[in-house]
Amino acid sequence: MAVSMTRVPVREQEPLVRAKNFEEVCLGYSEEEAVAEAERCLHCAKPLCVQGCPVSINIPEFIQEVKNRDFKRAYDIINESSSLPAVCGRVCPQETQCEGKCILGKKGDPVSIGKLERFVADWASENGVAPAKTKEQRPERVAVIGSGPAGLTCAGDLAKMGYQVKIFEALHQAGGVLVYGIPQFRLPKDQVVAHEVENVKKLGVEIETDVVVGKSVTIDQLMDEEGFDAVFIGSGAGLPKFMGIPGEQANGVFSANEYLTRNNLMKAYLHYDTPIHAGSKVVVVGGGNVAMDAARTALRLGAETHIVYRRSEKELPARAEEVHHAKEEGIQFHLLNNPVEILVDDSGWVRGIRCIHMELGEPDESGRRSPVEIPGSEYEIEADTVIMSLGTSPNPLISSTTQGLDTDRRKCIVAEESNGATSRPGVFAGGDAVTGAATVILAMGAGKAAAAGIHEYLQKNKKH
Ligand SMILES: Cc1cc2nc3c(=O)[nH]c(=O)nc-3n(C[C@H](O)[C@H](O)[C@H](O)COP(=O)(O)OP(=O)(O)OC[C@H]3O[C@@H](n4cnc5c(N)ncnc54)[C@H](O)[C@@H]3O)c2cc1C
Ligand code: SF4
Repeated sequence: MAVSMTRVPVREQEPLVRAKNFEEVCLGYSEEEAVAEAERCLHCAKPLCVQGCPVSINIPEFIQEVKNRDFKRAYDIINESSSLPAVCGRVCPQETQCEGKCILGKKGDPVSIGKLERFVADWASENGVAPAKTKEQRPERVAVIGSGPAGLTCAGDLAKMGYQVKIFEALHQAGGVLVYGIPQFRLPKDQVVAHEVENVKKLGVEIETDVVVGKSVTIDQLMDEEGFDAVFIGSGAGLPKFMGIPGEQANGVFSANEYLTRNNLMKAYLHYDTPIHAGSKVVVVGGGNVAMDAARTALRLGAETHIVYRRSEKELPARAEEVHHAKEEGIQFHLLNNPVEILVDDSGWVRGIRCIHMELGEPDESGRRSPVEIPGSEYEIEADTVIMSLGTSPNPLISSTTQGLDTDRRKCIVAEESNGATSRPGVFAGGDAVTGAATVILAMGAGKAAAAGIHEYLQKNKKH
């Protein structure tokens, strides 16, 4: 039977309906839809899709089990490589990873690998299937700093090997960016993130929240006084960058991180007591996933929302799906534009933003064409809120309180890619703390590599 070149479409909330609520945009596949989509997979002998997956999930095999309707087996196969499948199925940039390599993409639509992964993970959650705690118990104790995808993956893998693992998390809730950054309408918190965190706890991992390592306790104290044999740093890159333009200190200017944290973690969108300046006309500066999330959040809080980005559509770093959704929902894009000043009223509040038109010049070191200002092309956009989404870097708190821990010029912790080893024996690191802001799957891959590195280190340096 000829394979359909068109993927089974996934159901979504209508754009104008979802623009007014915080419910999940994508509704996912039903069982029949998932099986029909799985049937498009050719089960290639040399599957290119697996080469595109940073954690090498056995994609053809799990899809084969979806075809066979053995969803439990499909879940077990994914779980061998990924501890957060319900998250990855929703937020990974599949179009540039597994799906970007799928052979069917040469002539038509690639297999919807991400939506199938999500289907399997949701099926497992609805049917009470969870990874089992290992029987083997080892005496060594490992401290994991941060409960984002890097920390959760590292902790989960070590617990599966039988180590005693405790996560220390600065915030009051575990999950890292998955809870405080990515909004509810892309990644539901209770049904998906909390469930994935519970699965890691079921493996035996202990999580202590409200502990800021570097302030409440240092890495030296964890190792010398509290008896941890190794430490993994997965503290992310939560320090926002600003442009340094006039007016940036005005009331009504936020970093995207603060705006999203108030809304997601502190549930401002449910009209809790958390103060949030919803704004009636919001300008978001930037073009990444974070900018799309901030803009779509502002829209849902009732604002007319604009995105200002200095390069063209082709260079937008956000996932294609997020840009498409943002446009469908009515967000206005000002491409090839850059802010030069934030305009402030007499009482110190934002009243607008002055921008300048840009054109693309020669490629820079990233290979992307550099934006160049067009002299005399300044204009103003009226706004009462400006959200800066220009990227983030690691907070230097841990590196500045830990002796012998090398960092690079961007304040990222230096760690080996293959095993997470840092310059300090027994201390490993991975995820955004090492690479700077990146992706969930890369953070998970780094957590996995570090778990293997820690295992090797503990076996070589046995104390117990
Ligand atoms: C708004 C937003 C949207 C995004 N969208 C996507 C997307 O669609 N797809 C994608 O793949 N990626 C996306 N990303 C990027 C992705 O979320 C990150 O790359 C990933 O979460 C990094 O994981 P991590 O574990 O290294 O760090 P984080 O997720 O940042 O977790 C670090 C954790 O460490 C804790 N911590 C920090 N310092 C300390 C300390 N001193 N003591 C104790 N705990 C500490 C933090 O509170 C946090 O919980 C997005 C990021 C943001 C901000
Ligand atoms: S490359 Fe595409 S068709 Fe081939 S195994 Fe992977 S998902 Fe299936």
